[in-house]
Amino acid sequence: MKTIAILGSTGSIGTQTLEVVRANGDIRVAALGAGKNIDLLEKQIREFHPRLACTGSEEDAKTLRTRVADLSVRICSGMDGLKEVAVCEEADTLVTAIVGMIGIVPTIEAIKAGKDIALANKETLVTAGHLIMPLAARYGVKILPVDSEHSAIFQCLNGEKDRSGNANRIDKILLTASGGPFRGKTFEELKEVKVEDALKHPNWAMGQKITIDSASMVNKGLEVMEARWLFDVSPDQIQVVVQPQSIIHSMVQFADGAVIAQLGTPDMKLPISYALYYPERRFLAGERLDFAKISSISFENPDPDTFLGLKYALEAAHTGGSMPTVFNAANERAVRKFLNREIGFTGIYDIIRYCMDHHRLIPSPDVTQILDTEQSVYEMIEGRW
Ligand code: NDP
Repeated sequence: MKTIAILGSTGSIGTQTLEVVRANGDIRVAALGAGKNIDLLEKQIREFHPRLACTGSEEDAKTLRTRVADLSVRICSGMDGLKEVAVCEEADTLVTAIVGMIGIVPTIEAIKAGKDIALANKETLVTAGHLIMPLAARYGVKILPVDSEHSAIFQCLNGEKDRSGNANRIDKILLTASGGPFRGKTFEELKEVKVEDALKHPNWAMGQKITIDSASMVNKGLEVMEARWLFDVSPDQIQVVVQPQSIIHSMVQFADGAVIAQLGTPDMKLPISYALYYPERRFLAGERLDFAKISSISFENPDPDTFLGLKYALEAAHTGGSMPTVFNAANERAVRKFLNREIGFTGIYDIIRYCMDHHRLIPSPDVTQILDTEQSVYEMIEGRW
């Protein structure tokens, strides 16, 4: 029986992962890690009976221990707890559905313990892709993408090997984007948008942070950075294409000019299920694409001069080293400030630009340097905005 551990079980990806588990009934959940939502974590413990569960703080862990005293589950907390969940002996796969750079260290520990990684946490590859991919190769573990675009690319590449087993050459990756709720707006209009507007994604239901990142197109930039490591291509081989209906989840163009695409309804349970059961395809209940009803599938170029999140991300991807960490950390803090209504929407871009301009590049940072860079970016921002 497949056995998994989940970091971020109470979030959007975490709960949908458990929906897939519930629907299939043949995956065991060995460990769960969450942050503050101990009410939901308690419900998950009662339903899925993990051996281990982790909360963000020790205070919450104490409360939860009392609440689940009738069950044989051990409750841990903090970073040590997340690491315990990540290396939990029974699990063969770790689902990294936690948000933020806090996911990096537990993911590294899981790889070293030989766990396959069903990877949703973007920050892991964006900031540490140069460390994670070689580490995964050394320990012989699979990195199975959960992000819908990367899952689409992964599906397009399935079986694309020559007679000697070498991967067929990728000409380019066509990474699709919906364009978000502000597609077509001018930069001046973007200055006026409100938090409520930014949280209304036209096609996808996701956690708050990634929804804002989609509106700013920072998310697409982060996905370019992830894709380069996952599929071993240069950022120049990745073209962002706006596909407003979110029907095509991404495409790969091969050396002979053939383009293979993956299509589907916008439902994260598909990529989650594909990552959990790879290479098997399981039945998934839900809507199917009805080509008789789809009136059009249209394409546009992105507008990086308005959506500066994409422009700055591509710059950070080309610069490499510690710059993607700066981009990511600056954006993380800026999004928090936007959600707290401390800055306007385009203030997100101002903060990212400032931090990228004031950073001294580390060409090939180790994990400590990556986490130090994150802290230095937070310090750069505090007091200034
Ligand atoms: P959510 O905000 O919905 O969930 C985040 C999860 O992380 C929650 O379980 C939260 O716990 C937990 N968490 C946050 N901080 C801590 C902490 N300090 N310690 C322990 N746990 C913590 O995020 P999403 O599910 O939307 O996204 C998760 C990751 O997946 C992100 O990296 C995102 O970019 C990526 N992703 C998401 C997609 C989506 O459709 N949502 C699509 C593709 C990628 P709690 O709620 O209990 O505090």
